Amino acid sequence: INKGQEITSEILNRIVEKNRHYTTQGKVADYIPELGKANPSKIGIAVVNAQGKVISSGDVSEKFTIQSISKIIALMIAVQENGEENLYKKLGYFGTDQPFNHFGNLDNNGKPLNPMMNAGAIVTTASIQGEGDLGYQKILAMIRYITKNSAINLNEKVYLSEKETGHRNRGMFHILKNSGLIEGTEDKLDNYFKQCSIEVTAVDLAKIGYFFANNGTRFDGDTTYKNIEIARLIQSQMLTAGMYEFSGEYSRTVGLPSKSGVGGGITVSVPHKMGIGVYSPALDEHGNSLAGYQMIVELSKLYDLSIF
Ligand code: GLU
Repeated sequence: INKGQEITSEILNRIVEKNRHYTTQGKVADYIPELGKANPSKIGIAVVNAQGKVISSGDVSEKFTIQSISKIIALMIAVQENGEENLYKKLGYFGTDQPFNHFGNLDNNGKPLNPMMNAGAIVTTASIQGEGDLGYQKILAMIRYITKNSAINLNEKVYLSEKETGHRNRGMFHILKNSGLIEGTEDKLDNYFKQCSIEVTAVDLAKIGYFFANNGTRFDGDTTYKNIEIARLIQSQMLTAGMYEFSGEYSRTVGLPSKSGVGGGITVSVPHKMGIGVYSPALDEHGNSLAGYQMIVELSKLYDLSIF
């Protein structure tokens, strides 16, 4: 164990090479046709260390869609605007044993189990105030702020592909609307499709991980959105449900609040310290990046990063 020692790019290079073979064992998500076009051999890891410095290795300039990782940003904004207590009248704090898009991610009263699975995330995004695409614009602006990367934008093709094939999410939206948990038009659902289609890199994800790990302080020290309560809430939700139905086992093997997306990214917060972002689009059976997960396991073990 290198506890307390600095993470170097040499170490990250070694981690990438050691885990590269996993890229051939997973499968790129293709339930959204446009996602199926990703190159499964890509692999990269980025760390933003406690001093806010970026260290990286592999395909860290490669762009991919953020997908489910956008759910933590939407949650942040929805809590800022509505307050945690009000928002969680419509959501639970539960984990799940079901995949991300399962209809079973509702409790006995029809309330979504948590804001990390699709049902709860659709409610979260719909709770962001404003007509039309304003909710989406707020999410985009927040991601640009956290990463200090104003070039971040929508992948139009993925967005249209999500919208066209998102029947399950559309069905869920209407069930939730029927239960009175969502107000407003299908624009609210469209904002969800759009937020999932925002393009980022592994470096951007590491900066997002750093932001929540450090109570809303940006990697360059900016404290505009510093909020301990919101950062605690989001990290706890990441820990209980951020890796879909694998979250329990993941907290055993990695022990860090993390959120994955079917685009192949995972963002990790090492509380009060740093952020990690990984990318590799070949997924395991839970919808988590296979090589990405293995790299995080290794880094966590090497530096004893688990919170437990
Ligand atoms: N756009 C995806 C969906 O809702 C997000 C899924 C994910 O990354 O888990 O189908």
